[in-house]
Amino acid sequence: MKALITGCGIGGPATAMALREAGIEAEIFEAYGATAEGVGSFLNVASNGLSALRVLDTHREVMAAGIPTPRMVMTSGSGKHLGEVANGLALDDGTVSHTILRSDLYRIVRDQATARGIKIRYGKRLVSLDDTGDQVVAHFADGTQATGDILISAEGVHSRTRTLLDPKAPAPRYSGLYSFGGITTFPGLTGEPGTYHMIFGKKAFFGYAVADSGEIWWFANLPREEGDVPADWRPLLVEAFRHDGNRTADLLRESPIGDGFPVYDLPSIPTWHKGRVVLTGDAAHATSPSAGQGASQAIEDAIVLARCLRDAPDHGAAFAAFENERRERAERVVSYSRTISNSKAAGPVGRVFRDLMMPLFLKKAASQESLSWLYRHHVSL
Ligand SMILES: Cc1cc2nc3c(=O)[nH]c(=O)nc-3n(C[C@H](O)[C@H](O)[C@H](O)COP(=O)(O)OP(=O)(O)OC[C@H]3O[C@@H](n4cnc5c(N)ncnc54)[C@H](O)[C@@H]3O)c2cc1C
Repeated sequence: MKALITGCGIGGPATAMALREAGIEAEIFEAYGATAEGVGSFLNVASNGLSALRVLDTHREVMAAGIPTPRMVMTSGSGKHLGEVANGLALDDGTVSHTILRSDLYRIVRDQATARGIKIRYGKRLVSLDDTGDQVVAHFADGTQATGDILISAEGVHSRTRTLLDPKAPAPRYSGLYSFGGITTFPGLTGEPGTYHMIFGKKAFFGYAVADSGEIWWFANLPREEGDVPADWRPLLVEAFRHDGNRTADLLRESPIGDGFPVYDLPSIPTWHKGRVVLTGDAAHATSPSAGQGASQAIEDAIVLARCLRDAPDHGAAFAAFENERRERAERVVSYSRTISNSKAAGPVGRVFRDLMMPLFLKKAASQESLSWLYRHHVSL
């Protein structure tokens, strides 16, 4: 069997490596050029994601490039301590969740896939496909095409294949937030190692972790109308945090601020697979970044899909088994993350309610049992 994988983000290379372990040949087709590196901010690879990477023997490189972040401390903008919650649950060997630049995570999984002999074709944006019954043909924007036995879309939240499978599929939902992030040195903010400091400010949300090097890995979520993009974000960000009782506004005044990106997630879509084509990762179940699970869920998908393709009698049975094993969990993550995102974009009344209720919510969430569905989930090949 030969699999065409569209999208060389995080899930694409992970899927190709998992398929290879399962004895299935795969080739990756990425819309952008090989140099599309350094894009994006950082993201969380939770302990369950590292457990999945361990199956692919790629976890060590990822951990070495990131910083351990097993704990989250929440405060309000006025400095009120709202509570603490674990960011992941340690694996049996003590591995904890790590934060890593998305570009580093991308580079590692892509290079590992290449080192294992997987071919990646760049500048190949899928625009249409033909499922002939016996095979699937992918057509690319540059006029070329590729033929395989199955096609796996790992095209991310704005997947073209998703609309080709089901033109009526719900569109991604804007969360109401623009996200920013960077790594900087700024002595005005301190923190304990391994801890995300999450600040639910008066007008916007700010999170940061302090690395052993002393650098601050920060991100900010700003409530904003979709598409309302100013020439310069800095004054808006500084204004949004100016009234909070901390130095976040000063950091934003002094540090490089990249382009903000609008945060989306995906409502439950009816069709995960049709004929010889299947959706994985964000293409099937994009989550907002608030739960820190997008990459981890895509990597879990990769391993489960490869196992199903290896063990099921045919691709149809494999895709059905994959959806059966993955849909409920992935959609639960989307809805959990959405709840967190909504509390970041709270209005004045919601904010008062949030600051009153969050300590109770966090107390409940702090127990290991309430987090185990998310973090004590181990996929195998
Ligand atoms: C540039 C970028 C920056 C990001 N930055 C962050 C971040 O800072 N924080 C965070 O939490 N999450 C970020 N994400 C999202 C995060 O990477 C994903 O949620 C997660 O890794 C799930 O991975 P995925 O492989 O399903 O999708 P993605 O990692 O989004 O990868 C999808 C890939 O498919 C390619 N593609 C899209 N359409 C086509 C097509 N028609 N044909 C061929 N290829 C196609 C894209 O170029 C991309 O490389 C970012 C995603 C991207 C693409």
